[in-house]
Amino acid sequence: SFDILIIGAGSAGCVLAARFSENPAIRVGVLEAGEHPSDPDIAIPQKWPSLPDRPYDWAYRTIPQPGTANRVHPWPRGRIVGGSSCLHAMAHVRGHADDFAPWALATGDARWSYAGLLPGFRRSEAFSRGADAHHGGDGPLTVYLPDDELSPVVRAYMAAGVARGVPLIGDHNAGPLNGVAANSLTIRDGKRVSAADAYLLPALERPNLTLITGARVHRLVVAGSRITGVEAEIAGAPATFSAGMICLCAGAIASPLLLMRSGIGPASDLKAAGIACIADRPGLGGNLHDHLLTAGNVYRARRPVPPSRLQHSESLMYLNAADPTRPDGRPDVVLGCVAAPSVSECLAPPAYGTAYTLLSGVTHPTSRGRLTVTGPDLDDAPRIDPAYLSTDHDRAMARRALQLAREIGHSPALDEWRAEEIHPGLDVRSETEIDAFLARAVITHHHPVGTCRMGAEAMGADSLGADSPSVVDPDLKLHGFEGLHVVDASVIPTIPSGPVHAAILAIAETFAAGR
Ligand code: FAD
Repeated sequence: SFDILIIGAGSAGCVLAARFSENPAIRVGVLEAGEHPSDPDIAIPQKWPSLPDRPYDWAYRTIPQPGTANRVHPWPRGRIVGGSSCLHAMAHVRGHADDFAPWALATGDARWSYAGLLPGFRRSEAFSRGADAHHGGDGPLTVYLPDDELSPVVRAYMAAGVARGVPLIGDHNAGPLNGVAANSLTIRDGKRVSAADAYLLPALERPNLTLITGARVHRLVVAGSRITGVEAEIAGAPATFSAGMICLCAGAIASPLLLMRSGIGPASDLKAAGIACIADRPGLGGNLHDHLLTAGNVYRARRPVPPSRLQHSESLMYLNAADPTRPDGRPDVVLGCVAAPSVSECLAPPAYGTAYTLLSGVTHPTSRGRLTVTGPDLDDAPRIDPAYLSTDHDRAMARRALQLAREIGHSPALDEWRAEEIHPGLDVRSETEIDAFLARAVITHHHPVGTCRMGAEAMGADSLGADSPSVVDPDLKLHGFEGLHVVDASVIPTIPSGPVHAAILAIAETFAAGR
């Protein structure tokens, strides 16, 4: 029995474990299905693309996506102490301040505005260039803004952006987002810093903090309208834990599934999966959305491309789609430069060292899909449907993003590197040809969110619409129940412009600070 029980030692769970256990009077327990990392490749930033499908990956798969030539997309998620922060690409971008306005509007709670989250962003951070009004200097997580290590081909791409009139901004986490900057990275001394490295491991020496690894949580223990504990399995043996407060931090896929296995979710889905329904929650598992990247606009190089000294994708460029020179407002599209070939499984990759890639993506996709439980057991694979490229907006923006990538790619500033465009290739020009290429080239950016979204009202419409009823209240407490809060990527109502890890840490920091 614990005062606070955290399910999942992933990105958000590590923050909560460290922050709650600062108070020695609170007994904090953490249950994690995975084990401590033992694979040395995890720490090496350049190795991240090879980590999916290793034994510590939950290795989810989407259902075939009509918008992407009926492809099935692998969705890696970490099953390990540190969660998906042990697999991720280490890019640290908070998003644009306006990205968070819909969160505050949906909840009626200013904590979820950018101004409300800023103390959490700052508290999480040890910025490599020191503290200022935007950055924290002595937080747990190293945020490193590289300079000397940038690849020469990435520098040429940044110069191509500047020649196009794109603002050169020093840092994507210091106010304006539109512009080109080196990628801020959670790397220290050349090594990955996971959320466990930053938060959980240093806290484990506290006597009031207990981490139990290899603990697979099957379902919640529900007594009337109070959630009092969990049923788990450790080394094949059943185990039950109880707590005054449970924080569900299992991520955007596993958190809603755990609620559904416990009988909380859309009644018809639960019935079809053979699960007795105790609370009909039509919003649970809905509002599933993700960023896509087009992988990619690939160029054969005139000379050898030196290997990245960082994590390959060394610079991002956030752009207004109508006017890429515009410095203000939220971006619509993002470009990235990878000092290596980066392609989907449908395209032939050129040899490493002979090519570089411009990635392109849509920052605010409007496609919304659904996660559905298929059976009562933890090992029943979920039905994951992100409904990729199912809206005109997303298709139009994906086209525009690729067009801008090609414009930058063919800039004179890249003449010294570009031999020829390999993908899509100069013969791919018409809208039909571009759409066919996009359907085969897009890959997940690994940012699924939204399946237990926050909002002021349980069933009724809030500012985000009745189509996706909220699941947790403004304090991230499960609507209609006492004793359980959801704190992870699943509560995000609308995806921010950038990679989502920074925002997830800020959500957890803000939640922990409120109690
Ligand atoms: P997670 O970190 O996934 O944690 C969930 C934890 O719960 C896991 O440890 C899991 O094992 C555990 N768990 C789940 N079910 C159970 C259960 N039943 N019982 C016990 N434990 C359970 N974001 C960025 O900002 N920048 C990037 O560059 C970036 N690149 C990415 C690249 C990849 C390959 C991936 C996979 C993700 C990437 N992301 C990136 C996304 C980011 O890592 C995730 O959004 C974030 O880590 C999710 O945090 P979370 O706390 O919601 O869940």
